[in-house]
Amino acid sequence: MAIKNEYLAEVYAGLAARNAEQKEFLQAVEEVLESLEPVVEARPEIQAQGIIERLIEPERIIMFRVPWVDDAGKVQVNRGYRVQFNSAIGPYKGGLRLHPSVNLSIIKFLGFEQIFKNSLTSLPIGGGKGGSDFDPKGKSDNEVMRFCQSFMTELYRHIGADTDVPAGDIGVGAREIGYLFGQYKRIKNIYEGVLTGKGLSYGGSLARTQATGFGLCYFTNEMLKANGKSFEGAKVVISGSGNVATYANQKATELGATVIAMCDSNGYIYDPNGIDYTIIQEIKEVRRARIKTYLEFVPDAQYVEGGNIWNVPCDIALPCATQNELKLEDARVLATNGCYAVCEGANMPSTPEAIAFLQENGILFGPAKASNAGGVATSALEMSQNSERLSWSFEEVDEKLHGIMVNIYKNCAAAAEKYGMPGNLAAGANIAGFDKVCEAMLAQGVC
Ligand code: NDP
Repeated sequence: MAIKNEYLAEVYAGLAARNAEQKEFLQAVEEVLESLEPVVEARPEIQAQGIIERLIEPERIIMFRVPWVDDAGKVQVNRGYRVQFNSAIGPYKGGLRLHPSVNLSIIKFLGFEQIFKNSLTSLPIGGGKGGSDFDPKGKSDNEVMRFCQSFMTELYRHIGADTDVPAGDIGVGAREIGYLFGQYKRIKNIYEGVLTGKGLSYGGSLARTQATGFGLCYFTNEMLKANGKSFEGAKVVISGSGNVATYANQKATELGATVIAMCDSNGYIYDPNGIDYTIIQEIKEVRRARIKTYLEFVPDAQYVEGGNIWNVPCDIALPCATQNELKLEDARVLATNGCYAVCEGANMPSTPEAIAFLQENGILFGPAKASNAGGVATSALEMSQNSERLSWSFEEVDEKLHGIMVNIYKNCAAAAEKYGMPGNLAAGANIAGFDKVCEAMLAQGVC
């Protein structure tokens, strides 16, 4: 696919020339601009007001040095980022990623996607993202704490409960959020909901830990139902074994599926009897160990070192690890093996070629912006609870999350239908997410 609309093609060419090395960011923008063609053609004010040009340029990028001292007493230096992409509909909101692969392109693609995702939740949150190339794997708790404290010592001046509210992402879970929050409070002397994903003892929301994985399954369930299918009796493969993957496993299992394979970056496990998510919790959240440890709990299961999880035959595939993990060859194998639905838990896990193949071959496809929006939606619910100084019950938050995901599905499906692309949820998500941001930007003038 290529952008056909002349105005959008020209805007994209300019962006590509200015950011030639940012391949993930360009990939994310191209995918969105392609779907916005009919909208831009129907609404001349978008071009007249330079909405697209403004949308693709972050409002602010902060890059900073993060010096910290390791356990051997040696000084280490990492690079920190916060991209405040768009605040048209609310304070910037989006996670912090700690992974050695982090660079400006990855943070910009995540921040850009976050604009539309946050808009889809129907909650008042703008788009942002941040992180560092620090690798928490193999570091002691004290090293992680010293890194987080140093990171926040710069970040604190750019964020706040009404300005920018970061959360977790790859490599940032409850432990890291705790250290970051402690340092923010210490520097600012303000106890406010400046981060989400907090522990329950200091302002966290019940069900936030589960929210992205649960939300993914609620969305997938709507997509399946609309096509006469369900999780009941289905074989599910979930990539990753982190926060999103673990709770996607829990909800898919509760909805009647059998999760037969999960992985980490070393290899995958296969258990035809169904992978118990509480074992994954123990391995990943408590022991911080590798997925092959599963064999200690279930000796009959198989572990395939370096294997490709998409080779495991399944009915439903839920990519929940990282960007561009599901490629064209993988999509082909999934189709050959009879897979009928792919729904994204990670951000941009499928390459454009894989998505095109799935759509052309009648495989149901749920795009990340919509299907993994449950995490940020529940983060926004955490912000509401912090403002009210109240905590809602697990059931109340989960029910709201469920309602939000059902609505997101309906809005994506309706937007796709309205612009003559019935069933194309990827295009529908982009259009429905864009709509509200565009209205707000038009109303607020050139800023
Ligand atoms: P975690 O750090 O909890 O888990 C990430 C999992 O993915 C780990 O199993 C990790 O394996 C694997 N993984 C990461 N990078 C790679 C890689 N390059 N190759 C293979 N496996 C990899 O992260 P989350 O579960 O929070 O996030 C997963 C995805 O979901 C990301 O794309 C994130 O942006 C997205 N997301 C997360 C949300 C949340 O609320 N947490 C909300 C919305 C989206 P290993 O341990 O070996 O690295």
